[in-house]
Amino acid sequence: MRNAVVYPGSFDPITNGHVDIINRGLTMFEKIIILVGYNPNKKTLFSVEERIAMIEETVGDNPKVRVDSFSGLLVDYVKKSEACCILRGLRAMSDFEYEFQLALINRRLKRNIETVFLMTGSKWFYCNSSIVKEAAGLGGSVKGLVPDVVLKRLKEKFPDMQINNSGR
Ligand code: ADP
Repeated sequence: MRNAVVYPGSFDPITNGHVDIINRGLTMFEKIIILVGYNPNKKTLFSVEERIAMIEETVGDNPKVRVDSFSGLLVDYVKKSEACCILRGLRAMSDFEYEFQLALINRRLKRNIETVFLMTGSKWFYCNSSIVKEAAGLGGSVKGLVPDVVLKRLKEKFPDMQINNSGR
């Protein structure tokens, strides 16, 4: 399918910033394959199975979305899949340099695989998995930044985490 795209990431855990990219991507592509990166040497809060389960519960039963995991070279996965390109999100300028390098190396590895970028929604500018885990681990509420299923799973990992907040 030429109009399918792979959206790779660690999704540790999925946040509303990721959800925004997925929803907007679905208006442009017929299908999104959400690819959970799996690196046994990288320490994550959630296992790959937990991350996949949270994504699946968040996206629900949508035939236009598939969730998968992979530990090899991203371009090899894309080539073997029905996708034509890679989808990535851009937040602050700090994302830019890394994403630029990644897109260039992927294109060097497989010339015909392009990376498409979507700018973050302004509400999710500062929302990333690391900041969510840090705040939750210190007992702060991350309600509104992550899907409800993630809030529940974070509460299991961090029992002291507050559930409600006054922020917007
Ligand atoms: P994180 O950087 O939060 O750990 P990932 O590695 O899972 O996230 O990121 C996967 C992709 O989603 C990357 O392209 C990243 O820039 C993008 N992304 C993550 N959070 C947001 C957000 N709040 N807005 C837009 N894109 C985002």
